[in-house]
Amino acid sequence: MTRTLVRGVGTLISGDVRAPLIDASTLLIESGRIAEIGVDESTATADTVIDANGSTVAPGLWDSHYHPYFGDYSPRQEAGSTVTRVVKAGVTSFVSAGAGHQPGMYLPSPNLPNVQAVRAAKGADPTRARDARGSKALAIAMHRAWTDYRPMRVKVYAGTVMAEDGFARDDFVDMAAHGIRMLKFLRPVSRIADAVAYRNWAADVGMLVMTHTGNRAVTKDSPSITRSLQDVHPDIAGHINGGPTPAPRDAIDWFVEETDAALDTVFIGNMRIGVDVVRRIVERDEPERILIGSDLPGGTGIVPTAVLRTIQLLHQFTDLPAALLVCMATGNTARANRLPGGVVAVGEPADLVFWDAADGSESDSFLESIEQGDRPYPGLVMIDGEIVEHGNPLLLEPKRMPTVSHPARAATDERIAVGASA
Ligand SMILES: [Zn+2]
Repeated sequence: MTRTLVRGVGTLISGDVRAPLIDASTLLIESGRIAEIGVDESTATADTVIDANGSTVAPGLWDSHYHPYFGDYSPRQEAGSTVTRVVKAGVTSFVSAGAGHQPGMYLPSPNLPNVQAVRAAKGADPTRARDARGSKALAIAMHRAWTDYRPMRVKVYAGTVMAEDGFARDDFVDMAAHGIRMLKFLRPVSRIADAVAYRNWAADVGMLVMTHTGNRAVTKDSPSITRSLQDVHPDIAGHINGGPTPAPRDAIDWFVEETDAALDTVFIGNMRIGVDVVRRIVERDEPERILIGSDLPGGTGIVPTAVLRTIQLLHQFTDLPAALLVCMATGNTARANRLPGGVVAVGEPADLVFWDAADGSESDSFLESIEQGDRPYPGLVMIDGEIVEHGNPLLLEPKRMPTVSHPARAATDERIAVGASA
């Protein structure tokens, strides 16, 4: 069993929107999990000691809306290291909103302009890729690939299947048995009746349902976008502030006022609407419902700091406490997705980020930095108790850099040194 003692924590963020701060400066991690919060340093023994040197420790950020490819590259953006760059910026878990951008799999539809549709219009059959079997196979393959492929130990929850015409009930039983945990309505399916059947079959096997909440209906025969969203009635309204164009106001109002759906607020979306939704949900005393994500990679490109940037923007326009917004981007996303982590609590995975104000900033802590509009920086990123990044040459330095030592190893080194001189 490996033990890591974290000491010298200036501020400890919980990941729990109902109690965002924990009054403790030490943590004990055993075999990748948080074992104790508030430890007696004089008696604790550990293989590794991390001195936070007064910096802020928070659960690793979650990106509640990410579109993964196979592996750590993004053919649509012609870019590599798309996931690891985000990890270096403090995100330790990603939730797939559908592997919608696979080359050849982003369904060309005459009503859905996108890169592939434009290409398809030049000769290819625009309806060719409407393919339930392909969608199911892709979802299972993506889940398998990301379960075992974990650069920097990242957690990519890729088991999200996109709804397509032609699913049968047995498909959902099969998919659930193979790790698929979410049904995403992205491209419109033909009939409302089918969409409702899919969402019920998904719920029957314990899958979550997420919608593309934006500028098109999720079914082709629906009289309106709003009506199609009401018929599907998802657990999670994907990008409630648009991806990038939002749904009509009455759909957003319905989600806020008439449902208990989790509302995913994304970097690429309409920030005016994002701000309005977050304010209203907090006024309703339902802060658990807000998730924060990027909706990348996509037309906006790859922005490694997108989740942090969204927290900053939401703070600047709502003045809600920065710690609360961080908890929305951590514990809320884990809970809404029924996944472990996202919180600093005994027994939870030790996915932690050590943050501080940037060197040279007039602010003096992570939270103060967000509150003053400056960008904070991570000094150390840990996933499952393993240090995966310590200092990042791609980013500015935080004021307080955590230091790492190995007491047992140091004692052994000392004995060897003493033995050598005798
Ligand atoms: Zn998306």
